[in-house]
Amino acid sequence: MKQIIIIGAGASGLAAATRLIQNGLSATSITVLEAQNRIGGRVHTITNEGNPLEIGAQWVHGQQGNVVFEMAESACELNTDIQTLESSGFAENVVFGFEDYKLNKEQIHQLMQMIHALEEVSKNEMSGWNKSLGEYFEEKFKELILRKDSFSEFDRSTALAFLDWYHIMENVIDGSDNWKETCGSGHLHYKECLGDPLVTWKRGYSSLFKILMKSQDDDKQLPLSDRIFLNKAVKRIDWDNEAKSDKRIQVTCEDGSIYLAEFVLVTSSLGFLKSNMHSLFIPSLPPYKKRAIQGLGFGTVDKIFLKFEKPWWTPDWGGISFLRRRSKDTDTHWSHHLLGFYTVRLHPNILIAWITGKAAREVESLPENEILKVCSDILRKYIGADFPFTEPVGLILSRWHSNPFTLGSYSYRSMESKEMNVWATDLAQPVYDSGGFPRLFFAGEATHDYFYSTVHGAVETGWREADRIAKYCIGFRNANL
Ligand SMILES: Cc1cc2nc3c(=O)[nH]c(=O)nc-3n(C[C@H](O)[C@H](O)[C@H](O)COP(=O)(O)OP(=O)(O)OC[C@H]3O[C@@H](n4cnc5c(N)ncnc54)[C@H](O)[C@@H]3O)c2cc1C
Repeated sequence: MKQIIIIGAGASGLAAATRLIQNGLSATSITVLEAQNRIGGRVHTITNEGNPLEIGAQWVHGQQGNVVFEMAESACELNTDIQTLESSGFAENVVFGFEDYKLNKEQIHQLMQMIHALEEVSKNEMSGWNKSLGEYFEEKFKELILRKDSFSEFDRSTALAFLDWYHIMENVIDGSDNWKETCGSGHLHYKECLGDPLVTWKRGYSSLFKILMKSQDDDKQLPLSDRIFLNKAVKRIDWDNEAKSDKRIQVTCEDGSIYLAEFVLVTSSLGFLKSNMHSLFIPSLPPYKKRAIQGLGFGTVDKIFLKFEKPWWTPDWGGISFLRRRSKDTDTHWSHHLLGFYTVRLHPNILIAWITGKAAREVESLPENEILKVCSDILRKYIGADFPFTEPVGLILSRWHSNPFTLGSYSYRSMESKEMNVWATDLAQPVYDSGGFPRLFFAGEATHDYFYSTVHGAVETGWREADRIAKYCIGFRNANL
């Protein structure tokens, strides 16, 4: 029986494991090695005061053509009946403002319309755009502002402040540190699924794994639980043993344990591969694969949850998006990169802020009391006399960059990807040993051509590679692998 090792028990790894069983392989031929003490990877639901809180993935993005939506919907695990636009800067009940001036509804509406119109036009225009996403929006938005005869100088500087807010929002969506690093035409590779882009789970995103690991025939859990090994950080994969008598791949973990297999499926994040590819793969990966790992983009997006004794805001308030006047020192401190603070569904005492890029990495390195104080100070200034603000009493920070098995948040198409002409397909290609047999397989969100950076993308890549491996297992059943 051919042995398959799956590295990583995130969405893609677990999707692959279950699909292999559905493809007729025995569970005993599958070993899932997970470095952390939990399954889920970048899907990480914790419980706060009895309710699920998402440290990583939060929304099911779209309803049509989304495999996660399909599975979760039929398992009745989604909140599809209520409007779930919480925690989103685009929600209607969110205030936009400077410390000393709040925009009225009409101003917000006008700016939103301008940006949405530009988003629509960009879908056609950017395919022929050789520069970055940021350069596109900066140039086109400024043209739009100049053309608005009714705009005063004050309106123009407000519009630029709104553009800067939209820039951070775009980094949150995109996963890039700065939109000048995002490739304009590459950005169009991403495909949206139609329907509500912000569907939430009733009991948290981690419910996905129970659904994934259920048998389609009898609704029982697949016999995988004793095939998933936690706290098994893989440090080395000796994958080309064609010249040796035992041709199997040798996988060595940090704790010294060794596992042998004919095939290995790697689902580690692109961030992990960027930092570890040289020590992880023996021999080295082929040049095209190393170039893909180097050239595809992988940034940092973090969540900062502030906990309060009790809410000082009213139930109809959705949060505040921070606007800042452009000045020389605008971007010196990490707090200038906070998107804003927004309410969180099911958590009446919590507000969430998003932060990206270098600022997010800096926050991850700071003591919690310092982050809490800075967030509290800035929020108090923006709230002003609008509400009777009280100090936060606690903080939860996601720390996706410091996690040694993620080293960032999600992948994007960078200017470097374009210059090097490397794309998800290059990362997804299996690697063949010197005998011509495919040995290493790659899944994970970054290997998806158009659903990268999402959970549904990750699941599809797990299924894709499971089908590919199953084909080889059957096709090469008699080969001397
Ligand atoms: C803050 C944040 C918000 C997000 N929001 C959304 C959202 O709303 N909707 C959405 O669809 N997507 C969202 N995403 C993206 C989504 O979470 C990911 O695309 C998806 O979960 C990735 O799954 P994966 O299997 O590719 O990788 P991972 O989930 O990273 O799984 C890889 C697994 O491999 C393990 N591993 C790595 N290296 C080793 C090793 N050497 N040895 C053993 N194990 C190893 C890791 O510990 C991990 O468990 C978000 C992500 C973040 C960080």
